[in-house]
Amino acid sequence: MKKIRVVQWGLGAMGSGMARLMLEKTGLKLVGAIDQRPDYLGKDLGDVLGTGKKLGVKVTDKPKDVLDADKVDLVVIATTSWTLEQMPDLKKIIKAGINVISIAEELACPEAQSPKLAKELDKLAKKHGVSVLGTGVNPGFVLDLLVVTLSGVCHHVDRIEASRVNDLSPYGPTVMKTQGVGTTPEGFAAGVADGSIVGHVGFPESIRMISDALGLAVDQIEETRTPIISQVYRETPHVKVEAGMVAGCAHIAVGYADGVEVVKLIHPQQIHPHLEGQGTGDYINIYGKPEIHMASGPEIAGGIATMGVAVNMIPQVVAATPGLKSMIDLPVPAALMGASAYKRRV
Ligand code: NAD
Repeated sequence: MKKIRVVQWGLGAMGSGMARLMLEKTGLKLVGAIDQRPDYLGKDLGDVLGTGKKLGVKVTDKPKDVLDADKVDLVVIATTSWTLEQMPDLKKIIKAGINVISIAEELACPEAQSPKLAKELDKLAKKHGVSVLGTGVNPGFVLDLLVVTLSGVCHHVDRIEASRVNDLSPYGPTVMKTQGVGTTPEGFAAGVADGSIVGHVGFPESIRMISDALGLAVDQIEETRTPIISQVYRETPHVKVEAGMVAGCAHIAVGYADGVEVVKLIHPQQIHPHLEGQGTGDYINIYGKPEIHMASGPEIAGGIATMGVAVNMIPQVVAATPGLKSMIDLPVPAALMGASAYKRRV
C-alpha cells in the first residue's frame, strides 16, 4: 500500500496528539511538522512528541520548506478556531497543490459565517486540484454529522434537539477565560457583552450543516449564553470557583425556518459537573417519523475524538474531488484499522 504523506501544522495539544496517532497508522507517513514555537524549532519531531525515538523530521516555522506537492499529499492544520485568521496559511497549502484538513471550528462550514471566504477557498482549491475539509468533534461530528446521519432513516423531521453535556476540567487557561469559568455572574454578563466570553465556537456551523443536509431552510439563528453558577467549591489546576461564582457557560443555539424552531443545540460546558450530580453525555432527539432518541454517556471525549476524526478523514480527503468540503459531503468517517479503510469510494 502506498502511504499517504502528511505534514502536521500546529503541534499544540491537538496537533501533537494527531501526529502521535499518525505514527500508529500503517497507511500514513508523517513527513513534516510546522510550528512557530521557538523551543520546537529545528528539533526532531520525535523529541517534541516524546516518542523516545528520532523520526528524522525537523520542526520548522517556514511552511515553504515543507510544502512541496511532490513530497506531501495532505496537511493537517491545528492552529486556530477562526477562518479569517487561518486564511493565509490555508492559501499557502492550497497554492502549493496540497490537500488540507483543518480543525478550526469555523472551517467545519465556513459558509455559515464567512460566505465570501468559503467561496474563495472553494475556487482556489478547484484551481489547484485539491480538497479542503474542516472537521473535529464539535463542530464536525457530535452535534452535526451524527444528527444528520441519524435522520437518514426518517420519512420526515419536524424538529431536532441535541445536546452535549461535557466537563471542561482538563482544559487550559484560554478555555477557562472564553467560557467565563471563575468569573462572577456580573463579570460573565460583561464578558458576553464585550465578546471576551464566547462559550462554544461552532453552533452556526453545525446548524448550517444540518439545515443544508436535510433541506430545513434555516434562515435565522439565535444564540444565548447563560452562566452556570456553582453551588459548591470547584477547582482545576487553572481556576478556582467559590460557591456563587461561575463554573461554566450554558450555550444554546436555535435555528428557525420561516419563524418556526427546527433545530435546537444545547451545550452546557463547566468544570467538574459531577460535583453537583451532573453526568456528561451526548444526546440527540429527532422528532418526526420515526422519533429517534440517542443517548451516549459519558461525553465522547473531545480531544481524543478530534484527533481521531481528523486523522481518519485523511484518505477520504486525498481521494475527494477538488474543492471545499464539509463532513456532510464525504463518506462517513471510519477508524483506520486496516488496508481497506484507505480505499473508500469517494
Ligand atoms: P494549542 O493552543 O494547544 O496549539 C496550537 C499550536 O499551533 C501551538 O503550538 C502554536 O504555537 C501553533 N500555531 C498557532 N498559529 C500558528 C501558525 N500560524 N503557524 C505555526 N504554528 C502556529 O491549541 P489546540 O488545543 O491544539 O487546538 C487548536 C485549535 O483547534 C484551537 O483553535 C481549538 O479551539 C481547535 N479545536 C477544534 C475542535 C473541533 O471540534 N473542531 C476540537 C479541538 C480543538
